[in-house]
Order: sequence, then C-alpha cells, then structure tokens
Amino acid sequence: MLQKSADVVIVGGGVIGCATAFWLAKAGLRPLVLERDQLGCEASGEAAGMLAPQSEADQAGPFFELCLAGRSLFAALAEELKATTGIDIEHRQIGILIPFFRHSDQKVLLARAKWQGERGLAVETLDRREAIAAESLLSEKIEGAVSFPEEAHVNSRTLVMALAAAARRHGATFATGCPAAAVIRDRSKVTGIRTSAGPVSTPTVVLAAGPWSGVFAEALDVQIPVSPAKGELLLVAPEGRLPRRIVYSKHAYLIPTPRGEAILGTTMEFVGYDKRQTLAAMRTILTGVSALVPTIGRASLLRAWAGLRPFTPDELPLLGHCPSLEGLILATGHHRNGILLGPLTGRLVQELILGAPSSIPLKPFRPERPMPNSLDTPS
Ligand SMILES: Cc1cc2nc3c(=O)[nH]c(=O)nc-3n(C[C@H](O)[C@H](O)[C@H](O)COP(=O)(O)OP(=O)(O)OC[C@H]3O[C@@H](n4cnc5c(N)ncnc54)[C@H](O)[C@@H]3O)c2cc1C
Repeated sequence: MLQKSADVVIVGGGVIGCATAFWLAKAGLRPLVLERDQLGCEASGEAAGMLAPQSEADQAGPFFELCLAGRSLFAALAEELKATTGIDIEHRQIGILIPFFRHSDQKVLLARAKWQGERGLAVETLDRREAIAAESLLSEKIEGAVSFPEEAHVNSRTLVMALAAAARRHGATFATGCPAAAVIRDRSKVTGIRTSAGPVSTPTVVLAAGPWSGVFAEALDVQIPVSPAKGELLLVAPEGRLPRRIVYSKHAYLIPTPRGEAILGTTMEFVGYDKRQTLAAMRTILTGVSALVPTIGRASLLRAWAGLRPFTPDELPLLGHCPSLEGLILATGHHRNGILLGPLTGRLVQELILGAPSSIPLKPFRPERPMPNSLDTPS
C-alpha cells in the first residue's frame, strides 16, 4: 500500500534521487522516492564511477567549482555511509594518469597542468621515463603523462544502495516498481503526484528521472531539454597485473577495481533509448585502451553493458525550481558526471527545499537558462 502523502516526492531512484532522499531525510523531512523499476537500475548503478573533476578541465568556472565540491564530499560520505549502513562504497583516491603521444595532446595537457597547478590543485607532469616508472604497463610509444593524484573512484552500484539504505534509516520511504505518471497541480502549484499505485499528496516534487525527465515533464507543458547519450563499458579480468591508477585518454579509459578486474570505457552515441551493446563499441573501447596499455588485449571479457547518460545541450545539469510550476524542483541532466555530482546535488536540493542559502551559486545551472539548439549534439 502506497502512503497517501509525503513531505517531498522524488521521481527516480538513481543516484540523484537516492542522494536527495538521503539529505532530505537527514534534515528531518519525510521524502518518498518513486522508482518505476529497481533502485540504480539505469546509468547510476552501471556507471564507471570516476570522481574526476580535474582530468578534462581546461579552465576554471562554475561547473569546475561544482565538480570539485562534489569530489570533496566523498571521503566523509564514505565513512558516514559505512557507519550508518555497513555498505562500503569503495571510495579510493587512486589518481588518474593521462599519457600523451603527440605534440598537440602534450600542449593541451601541459596547459591544463599549468593552470591547475597555479590554482593550487594537485597535478604533476611526468616525462616518458617517469611515467613508465610510475606505470610500467603503459605503451612504449607515450611521450609523457600528466598525473592527477586526487582524482578518485567509487563503486556506483554500492553508492546508490548505501545512499538509499541510509535515507531509509533517517526516515525516507521508497516505492519500487512504481512509476510516477503525472504531477497533480492546482493551477500553477504542485499538490501531488499520480502513480500506478494511486495518488500521493505533496507540496514538492523533485524530478530526478535521468534521461526520462523530459518525457515525464511533457504532460506538464514544461520543456526539459534532457536526452539519452548512450555509453558502453566492459569488465575484464587481466592476464597479469593492472595499472594502479586510472589510465585515461580522450578516447578511452581503464579503471582498476579493488577485485583485480578492470572497467574499460567508453563510447558516446545519440541513439535514443536503445541500450543494445555493439561489437563496434567494443572495438572502439579496445582500440582506445590498447593504445594506452597494450597488454589489455590478452584480458578475458567478463561483462559488457550500456547505460544512458542524461545529456543536456550545454552539458550542464539542470538544478533549481521550475519557474512555471511552483513546487517542482529539477535535479537532472548530469550527463557524464552524475556519480561525482550526485551527493552534492542531493545536498543542494535539500538547501532549496529548506529555503537555506545555497552553499554553491546555482544561477549557472538554473533550469530556465537559454540552451544551445538541442540538435547540436556533440559527435
Ligand atoms: C557508460 C557510462 C559511464 C559513466 N561514468 C561516469 C563516471 O565515471 N563518473 C560520473 O560521475 N558519472 C558517470 N556516468 C554518468 C552517470 O551515470 C549519470 O550522470 C547518473 O547516473 C545520472 O543519475 P540519475 O539519477 O540522474 O539518472 P538514472 O540513473 O538514469 O536514474 C533515473 C531513474 O529514474 C527512473 N525513472 C524514470 N522515469 C520514471 C518515472 N516516470 N517514475 C519513476 N521512476 C522513473 C529510472 O528507472 C531510473 O532508475 C556514466 C554514465 C554512463 C552511461
């Protein structure tokens, strides 16, 4: 039996929905999460799990600050979740190493290392000999590398489960296998939500339905420019050793897991909600990772899967009140960084709902900002 009312109803049981429930319940509210299937069954439970604000950042700015703040929450959160639920999210500050091969790559990476170093962030430039001494499995063809020692990794699936378990301990409730059908409104104000198991009255709905957020909002006449961006991953068992750090390039990455396996990624395709895995994607990933770590081709394949990132045309999340419908809050569109930004997003939504000053300026992420043409998706 579904409850008849809730302080806040959250649509979507991915990392954003579960983190939001966690922070709201900790503040003494009684949120209800509606998940149409199982918690973490989409991208959140299947993501690569990198916490990597620095590796691709070529300039400072609001999104970079958001991502750094997101990463800084994890060490304490991992301890809190372990203490509250017994679940280990496997947070490890293992660092990311980005090798370069050509002059053009080198120029970009050295410029990245320079501004981040000047900003006081941990970053180190290695020549060829130092890079291979640090990671002996790297290709002999590399010219050097840049190391970002504070970049980290978590187990995405256990992160979602731990956030949900902790939220429950603090008083949140979860209804799985229970799709939210539509928001119930009184003119321009939210009064409840209709679900497959009946209506729930609430003054506040948080939309955290990942790439389905736009579909859900269609009936509300609210434009939410979020669409699916498919990515594929492989899990492999190496024949011998693995690198100790994440090895990364703009084409591919290898993440050593605590179990001695490696996650290899990834691809980016705009093919709607199609999650089939293709041999072409596997070839792309294998080619990209082999250029970094040539021995990876001898690994055995354990699993291949695909997930859908919630893409927005400017690649920034949508965070804030929906201007045309009082009581609707958007927390979606985290694209490639939803694991990194999930816990912080939950805290920011808590601040919005409590009417507290935002710990991070949200203006750059406001849902009503102008967007580039959503058809101009990156290739
Ligand atoms: C291959 C790949 C690798 C990635 N690697 C990383 C990484 O290394 N680091 C990082 O930070 N991010 C990474 N990401 C991105 C990250 O996974 C996403 O940004 C994040 O999971 C989005 O979380 P979400 O909760 O918004 O969406 P989702 O995980 O999609 O969750 C939304 C949930 O809403 C539910 N839902 C939809 N409609 C309804 C409805 N009407 N009623 C009820 N429930 C509904 C869905 O079933 C789903 O469970 C990766 C993504 C992919 C695909």
